[in-house]
Amino acid sequence: MFTDIANAIKNSNNIIILPHKSADGDCLGSSYALKLGLLKLGKNAQVVVEKKDKDAKFFSIIKDAETSVSTPDLVIAVDCGDIDRLDTRRDIFNSCENTVNIDHHGTNDGFAKINYIDANASATGEIIFDLLEFMQIDIDDDIAQNLYIAISSDSGRFSYSNTTKKTHEIAGKLIGYNIDFPYLNAFIFDKNSKKELLLAKEAIKTLDVVADGKIASVTVTKKVIKKYKATDSELGGIVNYPRSIDTVQIAFYFKEVHGGVKVSMRSTGPDVSKIAKKYGGGGHERASGCTLNMPVKKAKKIMYNEAMAVIC
Ligand code: 5GP
Ligand code: MN
Repeated sequence: MFTDIANAIKNSNNIIILPHKSADGDCLGSSYALKLGLLKLGKNAQVVVEKKDKDAKFFSIIKDAETSVSTPDLVIAVDCGDIDRLDTRRDIFNSCENTVNIDHHGTNDGFAKINYIDANASATGEIIFDLLEFMQIDIDDDIAQNLYIAISSDSGRFSYSNTTKKTHEIAGKLIGYNIDFPYLNAFIFDKNSKKELLLAKEAIKTLDVVADGKIASVTVTKKVIKKYKATDSELGGIVNYPRSIDTVQIAFYFKEVHGGVKVSMRSTGPDVSKIAKKYGGGGHERASGCTLNMPVKKAKKIMYNEAMAVIC
């Protein structure tokens, strides 16, 4: 249970929290909720995000407080399926003797000294909610907002199959705080910048539907990314376009990166985390990702073959 994590926190004063790279609502909401909770305990805590994610759109709704930690005596990875998800912050993690890994990805291999992985949690935010309760840290409006962002993000505002009775129960408690949840949901799911819509237009131009409509993909090239100066945050929802086709069982979003392709997968049932894991990535049964060091054309062929083997 949470005893080991609670003890590690109690025995530390300077704590660094690391969300995964290509930061999303769950990893950021969870990390900042935990940070604000730790501050309430009198700890010094800081969330260190990947440099590239510092302009993630979520920062305009995430609640934070000004702090800084130079030498941590505890490092906590949040929502990171594997250590590679720490990207350039791996050194921070590896240089600390005391490490904790709090996550909900079934493919997590337990890379820290203390690991808490619950694949039944719709979001890491659910685990952080339980941890704060376990540690008797009072949730306030700011923590509630961060947790709501986390849980609503990863549960698709309580619509994906990972959503449980417990997800709703926690959300029910969170909306009892002073948070503008209609605004938060609109921000996460409905609102786009003009640039995001133009990027979606570029992606949809590449739409490819195969296997009697059961597999679909879109591709975003380096050229498009450069043209629009697009960030990961701005490209975050692109996979939802091929996923939205009514016949599609597995949707792919191929993003051309330096030396290869970052693949995002979404599924209506077949376990795509096995495909992602086979190629060095990971994730959830219905939402996973990996990076292939090869041209898009080749990666697409390989991914389609893997998908063919598991569709119904
Ligand atoms: P997305 O497609 O939105 O980037 O990621 C879908 C899910 O798979 C997320 O939960 C994300 O954390 C996980 N994921 C994406 N890419 C990777 C990867 O390269 N490695 C691992 N372990 N998980 C990934
Ligand atoms: Mn998550």
